[in-house]
Amino acid sequence: MNQPENIQPELQRLLAGMKAYLDSVRLSGIRVLSPYQRIQSCVAKEQQNDAETLEAVRDDLGICSRCGLCRHRTTIIFGQGNPRARLVFVGQAPTLADDSEGQAFSGAEGDMLTNIITRVIKSSRCDVYLSNIVKCSPPDGRIPDTDEILACIPFLRRQLAAIRPSIVCALGQVAAQALLGSDSPLDELRGRFYRAGDMLVMPTHDLAFLRVREDKKRETWADMQMIERELAKTA
Ligand code: SF4
Repeated sequence: MNQPENIQPELQRLLAGMKAYLDSVRLSGIRVLSPYQRIQSCVAKEQQNDAETLEAVRDDLGICSRCGLCRHRTTIIFGQGNPRARLVFVGQAPTLADDSEGQAFSGAEGDMLTNIITRVIKSSRCDVYLSNIVKCSPPDGRIPDTDEILACIPFLRRQLAAIRPSIVCALGQVAAQALLGSDSPLDELRGRFYRAGDMLVMPTHDLAFLRVREDKKRETWADMQMIERELAKTA
């Protein structure tokens, strides 16, 4: 039985669970996506709320224990970069290296992303914003499960609403499916833009995957070149 002082956190957890469930129902209606299709996700709705700042979202996240990943993290990796970035990269989860470094996209995968941003996007890490679908590193680098994604993704949506980027690059299948509300495999999703509110979403390969499948780098480079051209068009 809950003691009175424990009821409020319990109520907040229940409300977060209900919102996550409603989000999953809303997102589950989208199966087949065409390029530039308007995605009926919360991303578009959150974009209409322009009052919130990244600092407010971070404050609301707090010392989060909304899902079980809180037990495995050293640090919440909220995200970093330009709060007015035109391009946001979203991965599936912080890596173990990110967890020990305290920032998103550290280590060898971070170096690969820096190389892409510099050479293909012709920009720099401080001009873009980097974050993940979930903010805590899963144990042993496993993929975050559905409950963990549903608990955490509202914060990413609010980050995107605060930043208002032109383009979001989803790195890997988990990030692409979560952002687009699709269950299609990445090979079907990547290589095209999808419209979500005022933003375009470009799914491409996960950086960890590229380290073992060098042959897929060519596809990723092509996706990044599309992003670079789109950014140049709207500069
Ligand atoms: S992954 Fe997200 S929802 Fe889960 S504990 Fe970390 S910050 Fe909270």
